[in-house]
Amino acid sequence: MESANVLQMPTSTKTVGKLQLGKNKVLIPEMNRSSAHLFAAALRAFAADAQVLETGRGLELGKKFTSGKECFPCLVTLGDLLYFVEEERRRLGAAFRADRYVFFMPESEGPCRFGMYNKFQRMVLDSLPDLQGLKISSLSNTDNYSPEGLIDPQKVQRFRKTACLAMVVADVLDRLTWRVRPYEKAGGLTDALAEQGLHRLMEVVERTGAENPFDPVVGELEKILAAGQTIIDPAIPPKPLIGIVGEIFLRMHRRSNQDLIRLMERYGAEVVNASMAEWLNYVSYDGLRQAKRKLRLGLRLLRPRQVKESIREMLGFGVNLLFQERTQQAVFKRARRRLDIAGDHRISHLEKILRETGDFSFDIPTEASLSIPGIIHCARNGYNGVVNVYPFTCMPGTTTSAVVRPIMHELGFPFLDTPYDDSIQPNRETAIRTFMYQARQNLQRHGRKWPTT
Ligand code: SF4
Repeated sequence: MESANVLQMPTSTKTVGKLQLGKNKVLIPEMNRSSAHLFAAALRAFAADAQVLETGRGLELGKKFTSGKECFPCLVTLGDLLYFVEEERRRLGAAFRADRYVFFMPESEGPCRFGMYNKFQRMVLDSLPDLQGLKISSLSNTDNYSPEGLIDPQKVQRFRKTACLAMVVADVLDRLTWRVRPYEKAGGLTDALAEQGLHRLMEVVERTGAENPFDPVVGELEKILAAGQTIIDPAIPPKPLIGIVGEIFLRMHRRSNQDLIRLMERYGAEVVNASMAEWLNYVSYDGLRQAKRKLRLGLRLLRPRQVKESIREMLGFGVNLLFQERTQQAVFKRARRRLDIAGDHRISHLEKILRETGDFSFDIPTEASLSIPGIIHCARNGYNGVVNVYPFTCMPGTTTSAVVRPIMHELGFPFLDTPYDDSIQPNRETAIRTFMYQARQNLQRHGRKWPTT
């Protein structure tokens, strides 16, 4: 029986899921500026018509089509898409056709809601006039974010390598900004270099991505890092070193975290945010871990099919993890010869911390598995404070806060939780200033180390 009150929505696997990008315009949401633009450049190297969406302008539209109970990143990305559509309609008039666009929205399985964004956004598009044809193409953590099905099958492996390189290079470019900006000789020099550097790197990725991009891209990156070194004023003494961990969208999306890094720098911090590659490596690491568990179970229950399947999965996740970590090490090794940026850790290092302390477990696969040991790592490795950034009501963010607060209290290590939605909390700045006072005291008492990992 159909109720007149039930809104019928033709949500279908034909318009959300692993869909070919084809000749459509591919719309990439901007979570992190450098990662999004370099990923779009990698797609363009493989002939996709990729464009990064302007972010932050569609917040009111995002709010209009959500109830307030959705995760904040879901609202922001939906708003960015709807704003683009409005502008595009205005620009093209009657020539606008929704089926010429593909919105790129990856997903993740797990106990939290990232896997639901694209389904929810599909329902919103289906409820709006003429937007049923605008497809949502997604990658999933269940097959290690494989681009198979999105682009030409012959080019999948090559694209995967180029996209991985682009993500690592974006991380290094961000680390340049955080390393140099607090010590720059004149205000604005670092931002100008980073922006100009991003455009230079996009051009090289797009030009060489389909062939062999490693040397040309890393060579260009080295030049940008060397220029960064010349901007540093050696007379400025070392500042308190602050680690940022937490929910990936919020800690990377400047509009959503109300430009937290810049605010902290204003109060005297040098900041290192957790990387984009950390999440990608974690997905491969966790897939490998789960495949191993499946193999053990298959062997115990004498299920040959399960054994065969799990070996195939182990190979897939294992090879990807190895390749990603090798790419990361190779890029960082060359980058750190030009500028002493913070290094990045392996995921196995984070799991080892949890095994030692027993404070949490990788058996609960959420970002809390990264944030909790990430915070403990900072406390043990010469940082002077840590900030946990997450959307208001975020499940892993709240879990991290609950587990870590008593530990940090016991260690006497400066720690701050910063949950965000789009509201301005009047006491936020006071909390950050107080936190920075504690971090300065920590620096005076214990000094700091240059973060090698
Ligand atoms: S990590 Fe937090 S914000 Fe992201 S999907 Fe899960 S609950 Fe939502």
